[in-house]
Amino acid sequence: MRTIGLIGGMSWESSLLYYQWINRGIRDRCGPLYSARLLLDSLNFQEIAAWQREGDWDAAGEALAASARRLEAGGAECIVLATNTMHKMADAITAATRLPFIHIADPTGAAIAAQGLHTVLLLGTEFTMAENFYRDRLQQEFNVHCLVPSRAQRTDVHRIIYDELCAGVINEASREIYRAIVEEAAANGAQGVILGCTEIGLLLRQDDVSLPLFNTAALHAEAAVAFALGESCL
Ligand code: GLU
Repeated sequence: MRTIGLIGGMSWESSLLYYQWINRGIRDRCGPLYSARLLLDSLNFQEIAAWQREGDWDAAGEALAASARRLEAGGAECIVLATNTMHKMADAITAATRLPFIHIADPTGAAIAAQGLHTVLLLGTEFTMAENFYRDRLQQEFNVHCLVPSRAQRTDVHRIIYDELCAGVINEASREIYRAIVEEAAANGAQGVILGCTEIGLLLRQDDVSLPLFNTAALHAEAAVAFALGESCL
């Protein structure tokens, strides 16, 4: 089994799920007492979120690069960055280490394409929804076209992520806001929904909406398991 290097803390609410899903994935594939070889380097999200707000992406990228170097020095054999948004700075990580980088958009795009879907709604932070670092990879690598919510809807989606989900708050009224955005997108031709923020699955469940959900955090954790078990369970 290979050792997974997980960069977490963005937020820890979802890092916790990665840890659980990766270990469950190993156990399900290998046997009841198997668990992941895993190093977690957990960052302080207060600092990261401040750099995001201030637009100091270079500082955030350097923090990720330093984290990847720590994981490599500790014996990790791949890097898994447990947040969609910070994939904006994926190049800072790949430049800092020779380890394979498991990009969160790749298992997501592959899962959508495997279901024969082509047009999906992308929910995530404003950075992920409005900028092109994420959407372009899905379009170019998987021929998946992302619809994004209106500007006003994006403001709500973004606010709920930072003010509630990353702070461990689950709010019924916020679930209804997300649900309404999904159903509007369904009426406008979306065939599925990317939960393109690692905390959204805490709020929106498959039973809440009529479209298939693609939970990036769960798909990413699965990809990490596949990497770890590439050779064997031991
Ligand atoms: N975890 C979220 C994501 O997947 C948002 C937190 C962040 O900005 O890193 O994008």
